[in-house]
Amino acid sequence: MGRSVLVTGGNRGIGLAIARSFAEQGDSVAVTHRGSGAPDGLFGVRCDVTSTEDVDRAFTEIEEHQGPVEVLVSNAGITRDGLLMRMKEEDFTDVVDANLTAAYRVSKRAAAKMVRARSGRIIFVSSVVGLLGSAGQTNYAASKAGLVGLARSIARELGSRGITANVVAPGFVTTDMTAELPEARQKEILGQVPLGRYADADEIAGVVRFLASDAAGYITGAVVPVDGGLGMGH
Ligand code: NDP
Repeated sequence: MGRSVLVTGGNRGIGLAIARSFAEQGDSVAVTHRGSGAPDGLFGVRCDVTSTEDVDRAFTEIEEHQGPVEVLVSNAGITRDGLLMRMKEEDFTDVVDANLTAAYRVSKRAAAKMVRARSGRIIFVSSVVGLLGSAGQTNYAASKAGLVGLARSIARELGSRGITANVVAPGFVTTDMTAELPEARQKEILGQVPLGRYADADEIAGVVRFLASDAAGYITGAVVPVDGGLGMGH
């Protein structure tokens, strides 16, 4: 029987590729959405990850539908780029809330049931810029770097309960998020990627699925780059 999987932000982009990849192997997959509904074959829960009440309600719905979450993929994220000296405080705090505090919210809610089951997989979708930094993205890079500390602390706290926590750090992936970048910036980025292309969302999904598999049972606290060489292993 398949596992109970939740992918936040699994209604589109990288999250959708991850959700479909688990569904293809027979898992029961729930995705959050904020009004778009769920793509075919996936169980949709309406949830804004910046709301603790939404998160709690979404988990309760998922538990009733497919049982407690055994694999949590915290993927939902936003950007609100701007140079530090011009960045409004709410642009910083909103990004940290959606990208980092939300990851704390969902992993805390999932962990209670995982501890009881003495098993679980938590995977955070970070970014290469969390480790390299990125001019114009102090908010985003800080939130993505924070996921590393979050994952490694969970790995230490919950390892003895059979729960692993890992981070996937994608480089540039073809999605709505990167489509927003100006063409000149896109060219500049490609010039720095040894593989000379953007990733396909399926290439991120494959690594997430691996980290949730039996083959990855002894991997925890790891940061796995999937960036075409942009970060050279960082
Ligand atoms: P998209 O912009 O295509 O999709 C973002 C997803 O996050 C959507 O499903 C969106 O839901 C969801 N989301 C955003 N805010 C919230 C919220 N408050 N509550 C619930 N859901 C929310 O992004 P990508 O697919 O490109 O990115 C997915 C993840 O991968 C993000 O964490 C991103 O930072 C990371 N990443 C992306 C890279 C890229 O090149 N694209 C590179 C490295 C990392 P809705 O449809 O409701 O808006």
